[in-house]
Amino acid sequence: MDHYSSQISKLIEELSRLPGIGVKTAQRLAFHIINMPQEQVTALSNAITDAKNNLKYCRECLTLTDKELCPICSAPGRNKGLIMVVENPRDLVAYEKTGKFNGVYHVLHGAISPMLGIGPTDIKLKELMHRLQGDVEEVIIATNSSLEGEATAMYLSKLIKPAGIKVSRIASGIPVGGDLEYIDEVTLLRALEGRVEL
Ligand code: ZN
Repeated sequence: MDHYSSQISKLIEELSRLPGIGVKTAQRLAFHIINMPQEQVTALSNAITDAKNNLKYCRECLTLTDKELCPICSAPGRNKGLIMVVENPRDLVAYEKTGKFNGVYHVLHGAISPMLGIGPTDIKLKELMHRLQGDVEEVIIATNSSLEGEATAMYLSKLIKPAGIKVSRIASGIPVGGDLEYIDEVTLLRALEGRVEL
């Protein structure tokens, strides 16, 4: 990497920190960016800075939004007594795209993973328990079907059931280890409709 000027090396280094970007891809992207018209480079760097500066967690569901309440939580037609728990905002979007879920969400921002040292206090569980003090009929656990997603689902159900709230888990049919965001809408809907009570 010393073959390049220090500015290019720095750009390559920063790009290679992104998930899924190896050094080779980072090099390709860096040279692509340098050859882009100035206004495109400015637009890209502004988009990154603006997104970082203006996005925050929704006060209720903790998804990323630029308002106090996200558009889903502030929509009058949504059933607030039905909460679907997902691991991240991308999974929320996947379910939202089906257009068939009229409840609200709760974004955990992760999953419990003893292997990686991620415990219950490292994800947004406390916030979920706080929400459950309101009028909630059912919690649908839609964490991924990975080891971490299943561990989180189990932990959640043990935590919530004593409160007398119905807890269900989206049906299998989602491939094991599969990330919700890559699954087609029909499969997601089937998993939701075929959810089983825990
Ligand atoms: Zn929200």
